[in-house]
Amino acid sequence: MNVVLLGPPGAGKGTQAVRMCEVFGLKHLSSGDILRAERKAHSELGRQAQDYMDRGVLVPDDLILAMMMEHISRCEGGTGFLLDGFPRTVVQARGLDERLGERGWKLDAVVDITVADEEVTKRLTGRWTCPKDGRIYHELFSAPAKAGVCDDCGEALTRRKDDEPDVVGQRLRTYHAETEPVKTYYEDRGVLRTVDGGGTADEVAALTKEVCRT
Ligand code: ADP
Ligand code: ADP
Repeated sequence: MNVVLLGPPGAGKGTQAVRMCEVFGLKHLSSGDILRAERKAHSELGRQAQDYMDRGVLVPDDLILAMMMEHISRCEGGTGFLLDGFPRTVVQARGLDERLGERGWKLDAVVDITVADEEVTKRLTGRWTCPKDGRIYHELFSAPAKAGVCDDCGEALTRRKDDEPDVVGQRLRTYHAETEPVKTYYEDRGVLRTVDGGGTADEVAALTKEVCRT
């Protein structure tokens, strides 16, 4: 099964992606995580992406498409993949469909996790991440047992620079202008499922699993 998770920054895509991949045995491909790893490795792609990411605007479509297709093509022979944070523009969605079609692959479900701007702002400004294993926490909603430290590996948690309030505002504007039209693109193709992302992470996980099974 091949799945896409759509939704604004802070909707809970990363949180749900981990759970979905466990349940359905999918490969988790997060465009944001891949870009952050490229930056950490000081690669040419990481260098090209950094300014866009720090400003909260989108990295150019051609760079993202090439990067994601490279990772998707490695899923050959597997049980499927889950795309988190990609596609984020209609150009990316079309490019993805074309390239999947060339391989005889397709998307089985596109799940749009809907959360109001006010709520995602709260979620982003309280987000803490483990730089070592990528586990996502929230200082109020899913706090680690010991403040500032990853429950799994003991690494000190970090905050993303682009989760600061002024960058969050820009990311939400970018989302409404460039990513919301992607919903209509998938709706027209009959694969869009919408899930209310306003409940607890467990409630959203149950809804997400249900819409992928139907
Ligand atoms: P995204 O990948 O869509 O940006 P994340 O999964 O990183 O979103 O979640 C953003 C923040 O919100 C994190 O701090 C996470 O712990 C928290 N979070 C995720 N889902 C929920 C939820 N259903 N209720 C409350 N907080 C949540
Ligand atoms: P979030 O988890 O809050 O939704 P991400 O980690 O997915 O944010 O993305 C962080 C940044 O990486 C974005 O603001 C953007 O600059 C860049 N980025 C990630 N995915 C894409 C994409 N599909 N297209 C263009 N830029 C992207």
